[in-house]
Amino acid sequence: MQHAFSSLALPAPMLANLASLGYQQMTPIQAASLPGLLSGRDLIAQAKTGSGKTAAFGIGLLHRLNPSLFNVQGLVLCPTRELADQVAGELRRLARHLDNIKILTLCGGVPMGPQIGSLAHGAHLVVGTPGRIQDHLYRATLDLARLRTLVLDEADRMVDMGFVDDLARIVAACPQHRQTVLFSATYPAHIEAIAAPFLRDPLRVEVESRH
Ligand code: ADP
Ligand code: MG
Repeated sequence: MQHAFSSLALPAPMLANLASLGYQQMTPIQAASLPGLLSGRDLIAQAKTGSGKTAAFGIGLLHRLNPSLFNVQGLVLCPTRELADQVAGELRRLARHLDNIKILTLCGGVPMGPQIGSLAHGAHLVVGTPGRIQDHLYRATLDLARLRTLVLDEADRMVDMGFVDDLARIVAACPQHRQTVLFSATYPAHIEAIAAPFLRDPLRVEVESRH
């Protein structure tokens, strides 16, 4: 079945931008998750690698953003720096023709100083790895008080890599009233139990069979 992006209640500039990226039809995970994401629901989504999960949560993040408020409204946690860079790249492409939206990447392995400087200038969306995000929270150089949406990307890998305690500490620094979405390539049974305290009445969306 075909699902055109134009069937969603998205503003014209976003639809035009998607068309310019060559995104005409939603992928199955996008079609299944975007209505819930746009309405602000919490969500657990599983679909294999390469199925377009980044644009699913990216369109949701950009849609719920108020560009005139210059504070961190969305945070995407990724297991590695390479994945964070890929996600930030896709978010920047999705935001290309929208109002000036500032997207910052915060990962380890580089000095804190320039990141602190960039944070002082403000950002709408932050993409980062759990360790470095925590470093910024400890130093109070990152303020999540105005966060509206938290994305746990590649949640299965973050759990495998032992980031569960870090995730819990980051979640504790987020407002209680927020949207939390979890994306995963696989959906092992223990993910649900680990994620339960972070999510409120989540929709469950599964595109591929479980492995
Ligand atoms: P995943 O996170 O599920 O592994 P990605 O978000 O990295 O997948 O997307 C995989 C590729 O699919 C990317 O190159 C992206 O540009 C492309 N893509 C995403 N959504 C669409 C779409 N609706 N139509 C065409 N290509 C898309
Ligand atoms: Mg991905």
